[in-house]
This record gives sequence, structure tokens and C-alpha cells, in this order.
Amino acid sequence: MVSHQMLIGGQLVVGDHLLDVIDPATGRAFTTVGRASLTQASQAVHAAKSAFTSWTATSLEERRRCVVALADAIMVDREDFARALVSEQGKPLNEALDEVDWTVLFIRHYATMDLPIEVIQEDDDFRMETHHKPLGVVVGIAPWNFPLFLLTLKLAAAVLTGNTFVGKPAPTTPVTSLMVGERAHKIFPSGVVNMVTDENDLGELLTQHADVAKISFTGSTATGRKVAASALSSFKRLSLELGGNDASIVLDDVDVETVAKKIFDAAFLNAGQVCIAIKRVYVHTDIYDRFTAALAALANAAHVGDGLQQGTRIGPIQNRMQFEKAKRFLEIAHRDGKVIVGGNVPGGNGYFIQPTIVRDIEDTSPLVHDEQFAPILPIVRFDDIDVALTNANATRFGLGGSVWSGDAARAYELAKKMDTGTVWVNHHLHLHPAVPLGGAKESGVGVDYGVDGLKEYTQTTVIRIAK
Ligand code: NAD
Repeated sequence: MVSHQMLIGGQLVVGDHLLDVIDPATGRAFTTVGRASLTQASQAVHAAKSAFTSWTATSLEERRRCVVALADAIMVDREDFARALVSEQGKPLNEALDEVDWTVLFIRHYATMDLPIEVIQEDDDFRMETHHKPLGVVVGIAPWNFPLFLLTLKLAAAVLTGNTFVGKPAPTTPVTSLMVGERAHKIFPSGVVNMVTDENDLGELLTQHADVAKISFTGSTATGRKVAASALSSFKRLSLELGGNDASIVLDDVDVETVAKKIFDAAFLNAGQVCIAIKRVYVHTDIYDRFTAALAALANAAHVGDGLQQGTRIGPIQNRMQFEKAKRFLEIAHRDGKVIVGGNVPGGNGYFIQPTIVRDIEDTSPLVHDEQFAPILPIVRFDDIDVALTNANATRFGLGGSVWSGDAARAYELAKKMDTGTVWVNHHLHLHPAVPLGGAKESGVGVDYGVDGLKEYTQTTVIRIAK
């Protein structure tokens, strides 16, 4: 018996296979859901293709109505979605409720956006217009850190712009995506939205499929490379939101306690498993000792535990593979730096890591130059801002970064030199549905969110009329 079904061609389908879903706080399966065979995944693509012609002919108002209805349906079951998120993903309940709220907020904002015809030139000789037309079948593939938010927004952007959609969550976090599929079943015409789950075995089929026009992928840079190679064969449209190693540069004139708290929050949200989490901090030597001590106090006070327990600040690592990776980073932390708080694995069956602050560590350590995706934060000392900037930029990643100073103008000058898709000044991690987010260098291709994000789901067509 499965707790949630897939959505294929307007039918809720059990699945040719089953998928046990592990609660990372216990290491044990808490539910079983349906899982698609290759045949079922192909059926989902075919259904989306068949539904495209009529869906793309519907009015923008009707598409908006459906998308808003989906947001409303999620909001009605806000608590259920949040609890399911805690069980499958591990984050504390308050963070899970935030994820539900952000999802709904972003969808509702999308529904206010439009891609109207733009007139580029109008004179006695010509009228030239740009149109943004839907592409066809969009495949959305999501990772496990924000399973509800990331996949549902791909769905909303795709169908709002007149495409049809096949969604595939990460194998370890299928539940909330299937719950979205179950709501979509009651709202969208047959085949417009499809939701399939896998065991990391459908990616190739979906990204190579001749009937797929676009892939919207969020995940690691390594998998993104495979997706790009698959898409290339037929020049599918592609957006890739990939890994990051966001640096924060903290200047000597900050209020140490205030900034340490903000940096702690942006580094340890979701146990550090956030693409745009702060993953390394460069702190000026004059405040280094006080700053690391302030971070250590915050880490010491952060309660580690099951996300459903009241007071939990840091939940488990989402899956066993990532947990093993995090444990290797802990060894590196002990080897390459001075661990001043944390550094331990509490034990038990859950995938827990204590929040860890590492000082006296250099850029040569993998904990600084790789993406740890875990609650282990390296703090690097600097006395020359130019050196800190050079080191912050010396990475193949380029997702986000931040500069912190009591003098915003001083921080702004430095921010302009950071080589990332987003630079925050005196804050970090904040997103807004109208603001595009994308990675520089190997952190991605294209953007999500905002009008620019919506355009990624369309083909730009120019019509030139001679008068
Ligand atoms: P992952 O790359 O392992 O998996 C992501 C998705 O790709 C999963 O659904 C997986 O099943 C699927 N997949 C696996 N093999 C595939 C293939 N050959 N073809 C197509 N799809 C395939 O990533 P993860 O470990 O789930 O997520 C963590 C990573 O995601 C981190 O690097 C993080 O920084 C990144 N991330 C980036 C953003 C962003 O906006 N840039 C947001 C969230 C997470």
C-alpha cells in the first residue's frame, strides 16, 4: 500500500515499483510511495506532449487561475505539507512552514507576472515585435534540500507560460512533490501536470527524450554536467541551478555580535544544506577572535534534533550519502583547522552532525574550497581585503556571496568585484519572487524567478512587419 501516488496523464497511478522514504532523524522508512518504471516515465512525457496544444491555447487568465488554485490548495494543507517536509527532509518544523509559505508566496507572485508582446521599433517603415512563446514539454528535476519549493516553482513557471510539465523530485524526498501532484490532479486538465518519482534512474530518459523541449534542473554541478550533455543532442532549452560555495567577507568595522548572528543564520539554515548558504567566512584579523567566539556561542546554543521536536534548531543531514560526506568534512575540519565547537556526530540512527565552527583554517583546505553542504563552517582570517577578495573569487563556483561592513558604501565597492550571480550587502540568502537568481561560472546557466526567470520557459520570436 502506498501513501502517495504519481500523476501521469491525468490519472493518479500507484507505480510499477515502490519507493521507501527514510526519515533522516531516525534512519528508518516512514512511508512508501509509488515509483515509475521507464515506461511510466515515457507515458508522462507523452501525456504532457498530447496536452500541450490545448493547454497552450488557453488564456493567460485561465492558466493564472489554475496556478493560484494550486497555491491555495497547498495553503489549505499547510501543516500537512510542513510535517511531511520535516519527515522526508529533516528540517525543523518552523523552517518547513517557511518553505510552504515561500512556495505559496512565490507562486502567487508568478501569477501576477506577464510576458507581454514588446514593440522594439515602430516607424514609417517597420513594426518589430518580440513575442515569448511556450516551448512544449518542460521537465523539472529537483534536489532534496528544498523539495517542495524548488519543484513546485518549476511547475508554476512552466504551466503559467503555456508549457506542460513533467516533474521529478529527488529519490529521497518524493512525498511533498507527490502531494503537489495530487492537488494538481484536481485543478489542471489531464496531462498538463505530471509527477513521477524514481531511484536516480529516470534522469537520462527524461533529459534525452525527443519530446522534451526544456529541462529546468536544480542540483549538483556534477549532475548538471550530465544533464547538459544529454540536452545538447537535441539542443533542448536548459536552465541549470547548481552547486555553490558562497563566501562572506566581514570587514573590520562591523558590529560583531549582530553580524555573527546573521551569518550564523545564513550558514546553518537547513543544517547548511542550502545552495546559497554561507559556506566560508573571511573575517578581518582585528575582529577575528571576537567573531569566531560569537559564532561558537551561537553554535553551542543551537539544539540538534528531530525537526518535529520543539526547540530543534539543527535537523539531520537529509540522506545517508550526504551524511557520510559530511563526516569526511568533519575529519578534514579536525585535520586542517581548529574546531572550537561541535566536530562530533551525536550517534544513534539519525543522520545528525553537531553545528561546527572551524577557525585557523586556510583556503587550501577542501572544507574551504569545496561545497560542504553540512553544518560545518570554516572561518578564514585576513588582513588584506584584496587578498580576501581574490581568494573568495578563486573558485569554480559563483552562486552567491556577501560583504559585511558598518559602511555600506565601502561594502558596495567590494560587492561589485565579487564574481557571483548574487552579492548581498549586509545580509545573505534572501530571495524575492521578482528578483532573478542564477549562478556565475559552474554554479549554473540561466536564472530562476522574476520576469527573466519566466522568460527561460519561452522561445523569443521576433515578428517584423514591413509597412
Ligand atoms: P543531485 O545532482 O545529486 O540530484 C539532483 C536531481 O538530479 C535529483 O532529482 C536526482 O535524482 C537527479 N538526477 C540524478 N542523476 C541524474 C541524471 N543523470 N540526469 C538527470 N537527473 C539526474 O543533487 P542533490 O544532491 O539532490 O542536491 C544538492 C545540490 O544541489 C548541491 O550542490 C546544491 O548546491 C544544489 N542546489 C542548487 C540550487 C540552486 O538554485 N543553484 C538550489 C538547491 C540545491
